[in-house]
Amino acid sequence: MESNLSDTCMVCPHLCDVDRTTSLGKCRATKQIKIASYQLHRGEEPVLSGTQGSGTIFFSHCNLKCVYCQNYDISEWGNGHYYSNEQVAEIMMLLQNNGAHNINLVSPTHYSLQIKEAIKLAKAKGLNIPIVWNSNAYENVEILQELDGLVDIYLTDFKYWNDNNAAKYSSAPDYAYHAKKAILEMYRQVGDLQIDNDTNLARKGLMIRLLILPENINGIESILNWISEDIGNMTYLSIMSQYFPTHRADEFPEINRVITHEEYSFALHVMEGLGFENVFTQKTSNLSD
Ligand code: SF4
Repeated sequence: MESNLSDTCMVCPHLCDVDRTTSLGKCRATKQIKIASYQLHRGEEPVLSGTQGSGTIFFSHCNLKCVYCQNYDISEWGNGHYYSNEQVAEIMMLLQNNGAHNINLVSPTHYSLQIKEAIKLAKAKGLNIPIVWNSNAYENVEILQELDGLVDIYLTDFKYWNDNNAAKYSSAPDYAYHAKKAILEMYRQVGDLQIDNDTNLARKGLMIRLLILPENINGIESILNWISEDIGNMTYLSIMSQYFPTHRADEFPEINRVITHEEYSFALHVMEGLGFENVFTQKTSNLSD
């Protein structure tokens, strides 16, 4: 995979083949990094947020087009400001100096190569907290390989097993094919999640997030079976219940509601049956009966 930033963009599986200095691909991102916000974030899993917060950087735009995106003002509208790679490195240092336990790169995929340079610049300045790659898994293995040794923790979604659902709700019909390859590469690089006994903070490894969608649109049994068989049931999972209909969800009646207690419990039941024990649950109060 060609990684020269002067070439046309083939960074993610969409393979748009456009020059992002003059045209826009499916993610609508130019070549320069755009950031919506950066802050110490206390709402992540406890092993990431700790006591002082995760140093979160929210990148503008996204390479998936999820009709229910809960951050559509950032992902679809592209709200944010442009920064040079050097300025992004400075943001990382600022977050570290403010006490962040890690640098949490949210929706980084479409800026993978620029962020790689920013991480290198920050490390040269003394950045020494873990780098968290917080992505949707619709990524090319060859690009992830460029991050080998720079990223400490892969925090990735696995959204859908079924191609029709991936096409309908995220405009990525080959999502599962690429997500499986991407997650295996992530695991090859960092292995199972390691948590420091003294601080209870994640140091290195893989965690997979599963945002439970209505009507089991995820295909949760197939996803969990695959994780169990191809990676192992020691994998850390984060089962998320906070789905709510927003953005274009009202165009799809089957997802135009919060999930039920039964749908959330079903995911937990499948997970328990497969022997997963390393699980973070984020059961919110908005589940319906
Ligand atoms: S990163 Fe953006 S422009 Fe590049 S291939 Fe993916 S969607 Fe297309």
